[in-house]
Amino acid sequence: MQRIVLTNGTFLTGDDLTPVAGALAVSDGTIEDCGPHVQARPGDHVVDLDGGFAMPGLMDAHCHLVYRDVADPYDIELRKSVPQATVDAVHNAALLLRKGFTTIRDVGSRANIGVEVRDAIRRGDVPGPRVLAAGRIVSAPGGLGDFQPSHLFEHAPYPHSLAVQVVGPYEAAAVVRTQLKDGVDWIKVGVSGTGFNPLCPAERSGLTDVEFHALVDEAVRQGVPVVAHAESADSVRTAARAGVASIEHALFLEDDALAAIVEHGLTISPTLSMYRAFAERGLEMGIPQVIVDQHRRTHEHHVASIAKATAAGVPIVAGGDAGLTHFVQGSCAVEPATYVELVGMSPRAALQSITVNIARLLGIDGEVGTLAPGMAADVLVLRRDPLADVTALADDAARALVLQGGVVVS
Ligand SMILES: [Zn+2]
Repeated sequence: MQRIVLTNGTFLTGDDLTPVAGALAVSDGTIEDCGPHVQARPGDHVVDLDGGFAMPGLMDAHCHLVYRDVADPYDIELRKSVPQATVDAVHNAALLLRKGFTTIRDVGSRANIGVEVRDAIRRGDVPGPRVLAAGRIVSAPGGLGDFQPSHLFEHAPYPHSLAVQVVGPYEAAAVVRTQLKDGVDWIKVGVSGTGFNPLCPAERSGLTDVEFHALVDEAVRQGVPVVAHAESADSVRTAARAGVASIEHALFLEDDALAAIVEHGLTISPTLSMYRAFAERGLEMGIPQVIVDQHRRTHEHHVASIAKATAAGVPIVAGGDAGLTHFVQGSCAVEPATYVELVGMSPRAALQSITVNIARLLGIDGEVGTLAPGMAADVLVLRRDPLADVTALADDAARALVLQGGVVVS
């Protein structure tokens, strides 16, 4: 593979995104060296960055590849067939890569689409980021992922839904083994309801403690990490005490739950921009009034919770939860700017939330997430310095170049 040298740029290097001027050399898909001393050699492919700023490729810790142009859960599950959802996921994977996302975690898919798309990308069949995938969201009847009206589905479980409903500890443990058989990297579980589900609001709990602990125990036994959807105070407390790897959303975060999160070294993915968009622009986005009302009720609590977690030093990871009609895939790129604006995070910490923090959570920080020798050459080049203006991440006009494993993909 031809050696590539990016010249005439500023490189945000290492865990702390320390700016280094000069050039960056890539050989065999990995970063070889970076700094003012790096020189192009005859035969190298030289790319002049023209004063641009290179940072690690973006990551999305909370992605659903099957979400595309949807306004509510019924759009996701009932309007679209499984083949259509598969096409959407392939489309979204390519789109995310073009927008600079080189790694994503898919936290809930219909059928086993996330896993299949992950493998298709790995084989080189279709373009897309590196994917770590959960399967269908483990949920309870009447819980987070139960969008199925009883008059239609009471006696006929809907096998094509985003979530799988389990009843009792045996089913909760068995679903972990089934999903592992099907190739998942993560188990996604709904511990509370959501403002997105008109049938189960954020404050309502889903699985019973017995079901939830049976699932977590089996996941620990099998060595697969658990990502918990937890909006209510109770659900955050339950997930934190059980020591799941990451807690999604955390709208209501009370002091004892925060203490458990700090004690276990857990990570929070707030997906704050999506909730903010629902609360502030939901109606113009075509979101039903009942869902917008739920989000307006909880948004202030959400901001306060994430500010409190940030102040306590909890690692925060950027997640999009995107794919709505007016909050399209790739909107995770606005998340760092939202942290700076609403919870007082520093721009450097905000950039870490969308790069190295996610790599650590996913256990791949030895391969991706920083610009350093030996790391995969997943690089996003911007025309503006994201440390000075973190909004550059989401500005299509600011994006100059995307490299994946040393290959220019956009
Ligand atoms: Zn989600």
